[in-house]
Amino acid sequence: MRVGAHQMSASRLAFRPGGLFCFCFVLLSFLTATTLSAREIQVSGRAYVDLGTVAQRFGMQGYWLAGYETYRLKSRWTTIDAGKNAKTLQVNRLPVYLGFPMVESRGQLFIAKADYQHVLQSVLTPQAFRPVPGLRRIVIDAGHGGKDSGARNDAYGLKEKELTLDVSRRLKSLLERAGYDVVMTRDSDVYIPLDQRPKVANRTKGDLFLSLHFNAAGSSTAAGFESYALTPQYQASSKYAKPEAHDNIAYTGNKQDAWNTLISYHVQRALVQRLGGPDRGLKRARFLVLKHLDCPGVLVELGFVSHPDTAQKLRTAAFRQTLAQSLFEGIVAYRNRLARIQ
Ligand SMILES: [Zn+2]
Repeated sequence: MRVGAHQMSASRLAFRPGGLFCFCFVLLSFLTATTLSAREIQVSGRAYVDLGTVAQRFGMQGYWLAGYETYRLKSRWTTIDAGKNAKTLQVNRLPVYLGFPMVESRGQLFIAKADYQHVLQSVLTPQAFRPVPGLRRIVIDAGHGGKDSGARNDAYGLKEKELTLDVSRRLKSLLERAGYDVVMTRDSDVYIPLDQRPKVANRTKGDLFLSLHFNAAGSSTAAGFESYALTPQYQASSKYAKPEAHDNIAYTGNKQDAWNTLISYHVQRALVQRLGGPDRGLKRARFLVLKHLDCPGVLVELGFVSHPDTAQKLRTAAFRQTLAQSLFEGIVAYRNRLARIQ
């Protein structure tokens, strides 16, 4: 009898207007939860979001290209191509290294939420992050110096320490002409320990830190530019496959993650747009000069001295001036992006 009475009261409840409302509410909640779980999945304990949902959030179109290997997000200004299991995204054809490989599930392509934040939001909608940095004082760090020559190509008479200082001086003059205040970590052939370089930026209250370098490789065919932003917490740097326990450390520089990404993207883009490829992309590393910065920072590799064509060009002042001009244009693009946020 008690069971019957309970059933009756339940059915009466369902026909009262309030009960109906409750029922609909429960149904709606259920549907919402189902929809969310279709667009967000967990892989190895990590949250992923599907790129169709991401496209909607950015007001972009999202669709598979023929062959179902590449998923494209497209708006009037931006094209992003993502491949199955890929650990890079092509953002306007610029390769951006992700923290985690993308995952395909049931015909949908998923990106780690960490990469959604650290790459897509940082480049496409940096207004999601606060506070927005200023840009008045720029600190240029000419890599190496003194007893530390850096990369060399003796056949062409090239030393990295001399190239970085030359391009730094050219960039300084372009920036000063445009009204910026410029601080150099070194303006002569002196050795400065790595840990002292970010301290110069912090002590002088710099708004942006650029560390300039040149690459060298055993193979003479390696070529192109690459830009490094500080690796976000919990992620492996680009040259490692998976994060380790020591990747869980957050450094001071990680407070600027979004802006580190944004400046690296714009500098890399400007270099490749003016000087061409190969575009080695926006990568991640925990370089000592980036870890302890109070302001956004980027480390740029301005080409391979071991590449004969590059080495020949680097001997000319005109080419070094073009490198400085490209860096300047990248900084201006970053400044214009910041200005649109205010
Ligand atoms: Zn170097």
